[in-house]
Amino acid sequence: MKKLNGVAASRGICIGPAFQFLRIELNTEKKDIIDTDAELIRLNDALNSAKNQIEAIYQKALVEAGEADAEIFQAHKMILDDPEFITAIRTRIENEKINSEFAVSETAKSFAATMAAIEDEYFAARATDIMDVANRVLRALMKIAESPTEGLHEPSIIVADDLTPSDTVLLDKSLVLGFCIAQGSATSHTAILARGLGLPAIAGVGDEIIKVLSGTKLIVDGTKGEVVIDPDTQTEQIYRQRLETSRNVQTEALKFAHDVAQTKDGVEFEIVANIGNVEDAKFAVENGAEGVGLLRTEFLYLERNSLPTEEEQYQAYKAILDVFGDRPVVLRTLDVGGDKEIPYLNLPKEMNPFLGERAIRLCLNRPDIFKPQLRAALRAGVGHNLKIMFPMVATLSDVRVAKAVVEECKAELTAESIAFARNAEIGIMVEIPSAAVVADQLAKEVDFFSIGTNDLSQYTMAADRTNPKVAELSDAFQPAVLRLIKMVIDAAHQEKKWVGMCGELAGEPLAAPILIGLGLDEFSMSPPFIPLVKQIIRNLDSQDMIALAQGALALESPKEIQQFVKKEIPFIGEIIS
Ligand code: PEP
Ligand code: MG
Repeated sequence: MKKLNGVAASRGICIGPAFQFLRIELNTEKKDIIDTDAELIRLNDALNSAKNQIEAIYQKALVEAGEADAEIFQAHKMILDDPEFITAIRTRIENEKINSEFAVSETAKSFAATMAAIEDEYFAARATDIMDVANRVLRALMKIAESPTEGLHEPSIIVADDLTPSDTVLLDKSLVLGFCIAQGSATSHTAILARGLGLPAIAGVGDEIIKVLSGTKLIVDGTKGEVVIDPDTQTEQIYRQRLETSRNVQTEALKFAHDVAQTKDGVEFEIVANIGNVEDAKFAVENGAEGVGLLRTEFLYLERNSLPTEEEQYQAYKAILDVFGDRPVVLRTLDVGGDKEIPYLNLPKEMNPFLGERAIRLCLNRPDIFKPQLRAALRAGVGHNLKIMFPMVATLSDVRVAKAVVEECKAELTAESIAFARNAEIGIMVEIPSAAVVADQLAKEVDFFSIGTNDLSQYTMAADRTNPKVAELSDAFQPAVLRLIKMVIDAAHQEKKWVGMCGELAGEPLAAPILIGLGLDEFSMSPPFIPLVKQIIRNLDSQDMIALAQGALALESPKEIQQFVKKEIPFIGEIIS
């Protein structure tokens, strides 16, 4: 038995076998070869193997997803049957006496670049297809498994160096008990995903966890940030007992999940959900969500190989809005960049992606991406309570220009006689310190704010949210962050605008009393947290919380603040232990 510590990334305990999620980098280094005939045979074998794989996937997709979705694999087969493409690879091997890996990779890149240069959605998608097929051939050449999830057949704890949002798409969530991640922190995207699914997770455990073999029994304690490798019977029993207690607390809270969150003195708070797709939307409703405070639209872009069209987005947004009827749904426009990468956009690598052309900055430079999304959202909002929110706003100008693009879209839709939500509220995320500082000015420009504490913490504290070494700094309980939150709430209320919070702090039981005391109007969180936060709010008195918040903001560290809340309101400490 061995214990490792990491960062508590998603509450709860899970016990089960480890599954190592290995993402192997394909090595396409150039090598000189002597025997070109043997190399051509090796290439041929790999091409045939790739073709057989694609045929098998095509047949499977045909049965499981239907002809339209299976079509893509027909296109992949055609690439391998394209004499121009294959001859180009062969010619390079013969003429330059180089290895197949390099020849395949270089030829594919050059064919894909030609396609991508044509500014058309169809050709952009073909460029991605070529790279997909080339990677399949490369895996066949290197005899590497099809996908990092191959072999995941029983409910397991996913162990990985780190997971990108697109990696997580590959996972069959019904087989995931929890996550144990070597890198990352509490606000990295694996952590957010885990919380969305209600699964325990710890991050920043360090490289040692990667050496654990698949199948080894693990206990992940996402509340304390601990993993136990190969536990003895006594330890396992203790954890099983805690697991049972926390299940009971959650089951009890779930019984009243659909009741409103009204404090003892009758003040009601809006409790809504952070979601990424229509499945999350349904799960949110089951957990008592009164709407959506953050629809992370980037998942729609991540789970595919080319940009979604306006029509595809319209369908996707409408399906989500339909789940909520006339309840509020805050749709956040595309927030890519930072640690959310979309390969097919082929964006240039940046030295500091979190400080780069991210989110609204990219959208304002790329109307070809921004406008179809806004049009789709406005159209889908008809008959619903849609609100549009811009991420990563830093300046007044960001908001004004973004709002002008919305007006442009509205004018176009009017001219085309297409119905749209004329009165959709427009808001911004306050997640950059500059926005918090000029919140008084920004409040005049928008209908609402939503505080993004994940980014607000990383930018305020200058501490990368994905770096476990600075996890204690990028903590939303830092007094500096809490004071900025107070400034933002006060500035919005001064202009009679409502303020929500969709950063992870909104779902923290120990933060609820402080946020109520500061006057936050709306709390948006991962669906599984809703029942518990509602239950906590029902047991508080809003007037008492004003004094508590004042006391908390005068303290000197996250630890002191959390201990203070635990001491003042002991029942919260008991239910989350
Ligand atoms: C945030 O930054 O707090 C937020 C909610 O956005 P994301 O985590 O998607 O960056
Ligand atoms: Mg953010």
